[in-house]
Amino acid sequence: MSNSPMQAVRGMNDILPDEAGLWLWFEEVVRDWLEGYGYRNIRMPLLEQTALFKRAIGEVTDIVEKEMYSFEDSLNGDQLTLRPEGTASCVRAALQHNLLYNAPQRLWYAGPMFRHERPQKGRYRQFHQIGVEALGFAGPDIDAEQIVMCARLWKRLGIRDVGLQLNSLGDAASRQRHREKLIAYFEQHKDVLDADAQRRLYSNPLRILDSKNPAMQELVNTAPQLMNELEGDAIRHFEAVQSILQRHGIAFEINPRLVRGLDYYNRTVFEWVTTRLGAQGTICAGGRFDGLIGQIGGKPAPACGFAMGIERLLALLQDDGMSPPAAALHVYLVHQGEAADALASGVAETLRDAGLKVALHCGGGSFKAQMKKADGSGAACAVIIGDDEAVAHTATLKPLRGGGEQQRVAVAELPQRIGELIK
Ligand code: ATP
Ligand code: MG
Repeated sequence: MSNSPMQAVRGMNDILPDEAGLWLWFEEVVRDWLEGYGYRNIRMPLLEQTALFKRAIGEVTDIVEKEMYSFEDSLNGDQLTLRPEGTASCVRAALQHNLLYNAPQRLWYAGPMFRHERPQKGRYRQFHQIGVEALGFAGPDIDAEQIVMCARLWKRLGIRDVGLQLNSLGDAASRQRHREKLIAYFEQHKDVLDADAQRRLYSNPLRILDSKNPAMQELVNTAPQLMNELEGDAIRHFEAVQSILQRHGIAFEINPRLVRGLDYYNRTVFEWVTTRLGAQGTICAGGRFDGLIGQIGGKPAPACGFAMGIERLLALLQDDGMSPPAAALHVYLVHQGEAADALASGVAETLRDAGLKVALHCGGGSFKAQMKKADGSGAACAVIIGDDEAVAHTATLKPLRGGGEQQRVAVAELPQRIGELIK
């Protein structure tokens, strides 16, 4: 693989203008949807101290063991990491600025995340997430609300064929009991464990359940289930989440193997999965993380949240034939001659004052060449100013889409006439 300075870093994509339209549209929909549930935006730096992610995500996880872009700051020796996910940074920011002091917080963020994975369709080294975190909320109502809100977004985006998988990871005591049973079980089948699993057997056996290795699937499928270890409160919590979902008519499948790739989860965990993106079918994932805030140094408080992968979501939309909304340029302004050139940029500003989107031709050239640019620009009409027009303070207005005659219009009347043309 080439590492020419003229190529983007492997696994990191440019989003070109033709595609960026879809991103902008998506971001607008998402923002409106989040505001509809009272979530407020927060923006964190892309770089954090490496120790934050180790503490939050867990030392023995794929992310921390092999996916982080970590380096030493050559100026002061700090160990830094490009964020592989947003929850740790969001909680860090909330604690640092005392946001949880007297009220719980519904927060969301969007932006790039970095993981050193093997790039393939739906799996990149820089990818983008929308993250949603409810910090300081204990009840099953908020877990369920977050799932209900996802369902609303899928509907709003016209996404079908996405199913909800649900599990409960219980609380610390049940996880401890389950851990012991898991270790005993895997010890009996050591010959089937791959190298990763062997290494994790005593440090983080739960992670083995997350294995994608086909040779281990049978072993993993018949492993002791955490679900059988749940205690009263956790059971009631999980049942309450399910009954709220049922009330909302949201179908789900309980998947006892769903353990998530990060250590901070407890109780409710969920993933929205489609079969249409090959192996990279999880478009959204999350759950409850009651221990995390205390674990990274805050006054303990319950929380839950989720993140969705924008590339995977947009791939699904594109698979459905969704194309970016057409470019919205209203006017391409063509001008030639000394008087015309002097008038044109002022006219363009006046049209923008009226709320129109205007590309002013720059760089000169013949009328014919400029009209070709106008045609290619996607604008609804061309405004043409030659010296004749300029002297009379007029312009020629020429519709570029859907026919219609060109007409000579006083400059002062242009906004109104263009408005009639594009409505
Ligand atoms: P996977 O099992 O696919 O590796 P994950 O459990 O590591 O996913 P999370 O950390 O839960 O992923 O991130 C939430 C979402 O972000 C995922 O469901 C997915 O949509 C997206 N995502 C995660 N990693 C990548 C990646 N490398 N490239 C593109 N999207 C990703
Ligand atoms: Mg992963």
